[in-house]
Amino acid sequence: MEMAFYRDTWAEIDLDAVMSNVRNMKAHIGEGRKLIAVVKANAYGHGDAEVAKAALEAGADMLAVAFLDEAIALRDAGFQTEILVMGASRPTDVQLAADMNIILTAPSFEWLEEAGRNVQTGTLAVHLKLDTGMGRLGIRTEEELHKVFSFSEGKQCLNIEGVFTHFATADELDTAYFDEQYKAFETLAKTAASYGDVMIHCGNSATGLRFPDKLVHAVRLGISMYGLSPSSEMKPLLPFQLKEAFSLHSKLVHVKKINKGDKISYGATYTAEEDEWIGTIPIGYADGWVRRLRDSDVLVDGERVPIVGRICMDQCMIKLPSQKEIGTKITLIGSQKHGKIPVDEVAEKLGTINYEVTCTITSRVPRMFL
Ligand code: PLP
Repeated sequence: MEMAFYRDTWAEIDLDAVMSNVRNMKAHIGEGRKLIAVVKANAYGHGDAEVAKAALEAGADMLAVAFLDEAIALRDAGFQTEILVMGASRPTDVQLAADMNIILTAPSFEWLEEAGRNVQTGTLAVHLKLDTGMGRLGIRTEEELHKVFSFSEGKQCLNIEGVFTHFATADELDTAYFDEQYKAFETLAKTAASYGDVMIHCGNSATGLRFPDKLVHAVRLGISMYGLSPSSEMKPLLPFQLKEAFSLHSKLVHVKKINKGDKISYGATYTAEEDEWIGTIPIGYADGWVRRLRDSDVLVDGERVPIVGRICMDQCMIKLPSQKEIGTKITLIGSQKHGKIPVDEVAEKLGTINYEVTCTITSRVPRMFL
């Protein structure tokens, strides 16, 4: 897609990679199971409408987001497919969801009661959340489950279309806690199924990749749709190759030679140890390229070079191996010639997870879709 912007810093989103990840996951989980593409948080920073379109084209059956606002934005963008809001919505906003045919998550019996009172016309579709050990949203006991289904039975304003849970440790090698959660889920899911035809789902990327047979009716595919492993522990266990969709680039806007002893950036904390070529790139912490990334590498002509001095709000400086032309492409995440800086490397440098890296590249950085 053509897009005008007037600063040479951009993220490239490889939609073919997204499609390949979706297709591979579909094949991995097998026919008869649905794939729910998780596009919350602007598709983990990748661009929700574009990713949603690519995922649906590649065979995703449904979309999921965290908040009602995100679902409304997708409806407004023309998506007519089923959309599940996985977070808690205000029970006072349920009529809007019913009108727009958006599925909400019921996090408790009390929520459902209030929601029921607020539906004036039509039917609100909900998926009931089961808290089997995540401790975030959902009902925890069979007693509550019976209460929920008895309450909604025969009510035109409410339709419990699904039940689901979320695992806290599906990406960890030790499955003890996962097994415990799965046991609790199985019991509750069996009871839910006794009330009729409901869609039962429990798995995020990690569960889908490792335990496709445990998914029941669907996988909720987030991080691995973007080509990233749910954890580093899981990397050796991946059943197919994930293709990273996100890369981040900039260009040199200024190049100079400094002398041994010269200082760079705020606080004058970097001192040149010799005469050095220094380049300035127009990306800084206001773009999500946070100050802790100081000293990390970027790629110039495929070669790794370090960021030197403190990262500013809108710019940072890099040490060049030699004089380079203004306009030379710099890659901060992704591949360039023989070099590669994976999202995971940036996450490790920041002491965080890959999810956080793509989410925190701010909206000031334009996304280009390949
Ligand atoms: N399901 C729920 C309820 C979630 O909160 C998330 C993400 O946080 C997902 C599915 C997708 O998880 P992942 O990105 O690990 O695939």
